[in-house]
Amino acid sequence: MTNNSPVGKPIPIDVIEESLYEVRRKIYPRSVTGLFARWRIILVVATQLLFYGLPWISWNDRQAVLFDLIQRKFYIFGLVLWPQDVIYLTLLLILSALALFLFTAIAGRLFCGYACPQTVYTEIFMWIERKVEGDRFARIRLDGEEWPWSIRKWRLKITKHFLWLLIAFWTGFTFIGYFTPIETLGTAILHFSLGPWQTFWLCFYSFATWGNAGFMREQVCKYMCPYARFQSVMVDKDTFLVTYDKVRGEPRGSRSKSADHATLGLGDCVDCSICVQVCPTGIDIRDGLQYMCIGCGACIDACDQVMEKVDYPKGLIRYTTERAIEDKETNQSAIRHILRPRVLIYTAFITVLTSAFLISLLTRNPLRVDVMRDRGALAREVDGVRIENIYRIQIMNASENNMNVQVRATGLDDLKILNSQGQVITEIEVGPASNMLIPVKVSTTVGAHEPGNYPIHFDVIGHEMSGGELIARKRDEKSSFIVPR
Ligand code: SF4
Ligand code: SF4
Repeated sequence: MTNNSPVGKPIPIDVIEESLYEVRRKIYPRSVTGLFARWRIILVVATQLLFYGLPWISWNDRQAVLFDLIQRKFYIFGLVLWPQDVIYLTLLLILSALALFLFTAIAGRLFCGYACPQTVYTEIFMWIERKVEGDRFARIRLDGEEWPWSIRKWRLKITKHFLWLLIAFWTGFTFIGYFTPIETLGTAILHFSLGPWQTFWLCFYSFATWGNAGFMREQVCKYMCPYARFQSVMVDKDTFLVTYDKVRGEPRGSRSKSADHATLGLGDCVDCSICVQVCPTGIDIRDGLQYMCIGCGACIDACDQVMEKVDYPKGLIRYTTERAIEDKETNQSAIRHILRPRVLIYTAFITVLTSAFLISLLTRNPLRVDVMRDRGALAREVDGVRIENIYRIQIMNASENNMNVQVRATGLDDLKILNSQGQVITEIEVGPASNMLIPVKVSTTVGAHEPGNYPIHFDVIGHEMSGGELIARKRDEKSSFIVPR
């Protein structure tokens, strides 16, 4: 369990291993205040305002962010994405992965400690637990054997679980609200008219939140999260990590406040174990870097308070790099090593991909056209005057405005596009964010062309009013026209 390797060796993230079959010790993290605790609160509030708030925002008389799986359309404010836009989702996933690599190379598990949903909900649930049952020692006493199940204990446990379930339910409800209009969902719940799938997912997400944040907690980070396992390959000697300064702290030991610890042969660590008590994953950061450390900084806040009390300089546990500890550098000079090859490579990839993503999004043509030649219907002669081929034209208007779409067939003389009633089609109106499939016949005059297969084009121009301006969107779709013998 203990890492006694001297500071200065390459970072062995997996130094400490615990048996996967070890019986879980319940962790009772002590509350802590300080700079990093404030950052965690800010991030919890910011992420939850965003998550709980977004589905309630309206945009163009519709939910601003809605992933409508049934209609297969994703609405993100003014942007409407169709299954054909899967490239944006792919780019977004690649960008998120690269951003995670970049942050990890610079500052370890920054995401885990402050913005990961598991951490955020555990923070919220622990806050409720502390408010209801008290801080670490009160909770240990409450759960301890010496405290039988009194009325008070029942009351506290029921209150805690009721509040947990309330948050879990609201989280599940909000999550489904990203896929079904949230107001309709709310009304359905109030009228007990939820569909079976909605009921299933609501129960599933509520239960998952309650279980993960209430009971599983650090076990998700320790045993279930793959990121914890592969992060060791992403950090190096210049990565800023929560680190115990062994050089300064050891040998550790208690001492009276008035004693000169240097003459006692002691380092700065007074061995109060408060850094262990505040740790949500229950580890001792003094044992060295461990994959279970989520980089939350709670031990930094705790140790800084102890250092303040004993009049030692703060920062015995701090965000720093292995190289800085080794070379006794300050963080200011360690920052110089941030710009190293792996960071520059990740940054370059992110810059290129973000630019490609934005350019492609800004220049995206909201008019989509697909022309399918009906291979089941043969080319035919009608009334000895005209030759007809059958097609299906799919027009998708991915904009938020009505579109007047003009369709023309070119490539052969005298091509006309007719609807199923035989009327010439020149203009079609396609509503905002909608999709039309139109069966058409394309005809030309008999005898004007030799029998054969001719390439033709469907020239499609859509006009939409956007911001008081008439904008033309163009598409050109290739197909073929058969002149029979
Ligand atoms: S060791 Fe410190 S930074 Fe790591 S998880 Fe525990 S309290 Fe958070
Ligand atoms: S809080 Fe600081 S002083 Fe106390 S045991 Fe942890 S490292 Fe040592």
